[in-house]
Amino acid sequence: MKKLLLYLSERETPKKMLTSISLLNKVTKRFVAGETVDEASAAIKVLNSKGISATFDHLGEAIHNEEEAAAEVAMYLRILDRIESDGLDSNVSLKLTQLGLDIRQELCIENLTRIVEHAAKNGNFVRIDMEDSGHLQATLDVFRAVRAKHENVGIVIQSYLFRSEQDVKDLLELGSRIRICKGAYKEPPEVAFQEKSKVDENYLTIVRLLLPSGIYHGIATHDPAMINGTIRFAREQKLDQKCFEFQMLYGIARDRQVKLVEEGFNVRVYVPFGRAWYPYFMRRLAERPANVLFILRAMMKG
Ligand SMILES: Cc1cc2nc3c(=O)[nH]c(=O)nc-3n(C[C@H](O)[C@H](O)[C@H](O)COP(=O)(O)OP(=O)(O)OC[C@H]3O[C@@H](n4cnc5c(N)ncnc54)[C@H](O)[C@@H]3O)c2cc1C
Repeated sequence: MKKLLLYLSERETPKKMLTSISLLNKVTKRFVAGETVDEASAAIKVLNSKGISATFDHLGEAIHNEEEAAAEVAMYLRILDRIESDGLDSNVSLKLTQLGLDIRQELCIENLTRIVEHAAKNGNFVRIDMEDSGHLQATLDVFRAVRAKHENVGIVIQSYLFRSEQDVKDLLELGSRIRICKGAYKEPPEVAFQEKSKVDENYLTIVRLLLPSGIYHGIATHDPAMINGTIRFAREQKLDQKCFEFQMLYGIARDRQVKLVEEGFNVRVYVPFGRAWYPYFMRRLAERPANVLFILRAMMKG
């Protein structure tokens, strides 16, 4: 099933099928907060009312020219202003390919710097999502260049990659805020663990490096074993349970998000919105076959 979905996600036909029969509203709304800043802001207000923080993510990856990258920068500046004017408890997440990483590294650094400096004016924070391993080194290089001058920017590390433990050690020396996740892309056996048990083991190894570091990190997962492993370790080490935050995706494990807040943990939900919802949506389907049944049921209801 996972292979089939990854295969489909790389092809146009299912995209046309889904868009042409206007399923966007019915099925993507479970995972995507809408197409506009207004819709995303409304979704974040609901989360905030439950004591959950958020991170805005304007969907889009692999833009093709400098004008598109400039439009993404403008969108993020707008989002940061909107966070202030609406009084939202939210920061922002972005992908460097949105900002021109595939065009020119210098351009990407300039674009990211503009967003990070704008965020700093209001004491806000910018998280760089991690993309596929082909973009990993360039993403780390851009992060380091901007982090050298600005503290309000953080990075993501994926536990499925062999190199991640060493990357985390290096990044902690810089004082970097890290989001640890398992990783969402199809990666070859040359660079990534293929077995879930190894990905999970590495995830908890990295959690054990992050939590005692004195830096505020994000533990991004819906996996009860990872969540419980993190809580157990924090208790063993007698760490303040507010010294890190759990992070989850919009529409996934919603009851658990609320339960963790009730237990006194910080929780942040990643809120994607925008018209370029397709690759994000397909990655969410590929993660869980049950989501495909959800889509099929929605299609049958017509
Ligand atoms: C806040 C956040 C930010 C992320 N940022 C990045 C990033 O920058 N780069 C990157 O590569 N990946 C990112 N990811 C995705 C991540 O790498 C995983 O692909 C995803 O979180 C699934 O892994 P899991 O830890 O939930 O564990 P899994 O073992 O995949 O899932 C554990 C359980 O969680 C539930 N679950 C997981 N996924 C779904 C789903 N799609 N639909 C419904 N239920 C589900 C199911 O109950 C499942 O059994 C992010 C994830 C989160 C939560």
